[in-house]
Amino acid sequence: MSDVVVGVDLGGTKTAAALVRADGAVGPVRSVPTPATAGPEAVLDAVAGLVRDVVAHGGTLTAPGGTTTELTGPVAVSGLGVGTAGVVDTTTGTIVSATDAIRGWTGTDVRGGLRARLRDVVGEGTVTVENDVDAHAGGEVWLGAAAGADSVLMVAVGTGVGASVVLDGRPLRGAHHVAGEMGHQPSPDAAGLRCGCGRPGHLEALGSGPALHRHYLRLGGDAAVADTREVCARAAAGDEVAERAVRESARAVGRSVAGVVTVLDPAAVVVGGGMSQAGPLWWEPMDAALREELIEPLADIPVRPSALGPVAAVLGAARTALVARG
Ligand SMILES: [Zn+2]
Repeated sequence: MSDVVVGVDLGGTKTAAALVRADGAVGPVRSVPTPATAGPEAVLDAVAGLVRDVVAHGGTLTAPGGTTTELTGPVAVSGLGVGTAGVVDTTTGTIVSATDAIRGWTGTDVRGGLRARLRDVVGEGTVTVENDVDAHAGGEVWLGAAAGADSVLMVAVGTGVGASVVLDGRPLRGAHHVAGEMGHQPSPDAAGLRCGCGRPGHLEALGSGPALHRHYLRLGGDAAVADTREVCARAAAGDEVAERAVRESARAVGRSVAGVVTVLDPAAVVVGGGMSQAGPLWWEPMDAALREELIEPLADIPVRPSALGPVAAVLGAARTALVARG
């Protein structure tokens, strides 16, 4: 049996995939735009096309230590692991619920749809499907910022606020497949603000990247500022309103993370997603707010930025397929 699988990171704007070997060696990452408004069948077609491309081309696999191996396509693979936006029933590989980042995604049988399209590539091999933040966390625990830790809270702050809880080395899925959906926690800082789920006062309504931009406008910021990136740039340049918006959004995230840390007592926290790359203006108030809330035994908990970047979810999704394959 081949010790190579394909890992896929299926997001609302793009889908990335690569060959991954059981020792963590990873091939070239290929990506395509996700046809997010064209319906689930079109999305599954795009993913299947990308997987075919990855397998057909092979390429140079680079192991964590730097050793390289050349694989000539078509590469025999023994499985496929997918991390996707949305709440996923990992036992069936279907989407339990999702935002409209991918239109009509709720209810999609991702595992069945990909197996039917890729029978000649994966045969009866393993096909696993999980939430993309769980996949990201799996990658960081395997080879990244939390390598070797057996319990980790991974928080992803970007277009939404997601999280994954890894206990005994495995992502906690939960009784309703929702474990880790931290963005929908009540947050006192977000009181009165409407969340993407329709309810007021959830963390995501203040803590996500787009929410930070809305917060800046609410505080009286310049209406000509188009997006979160520009708010952060203005904050870095000394704009007080922008700096306050970044600080308050980051503090809301930090407080909520502290709440989850206090319940779980993980060995480490990893923070990923676009906002984690925004620099000290975001990171420092997030970290300070978190530590203000923690009782003494938790005071020194490591809080690290994700280390693997965009390949983390590809690696984690592949790892889940490798583990399931046995
Ligand atoms: Zn919500």
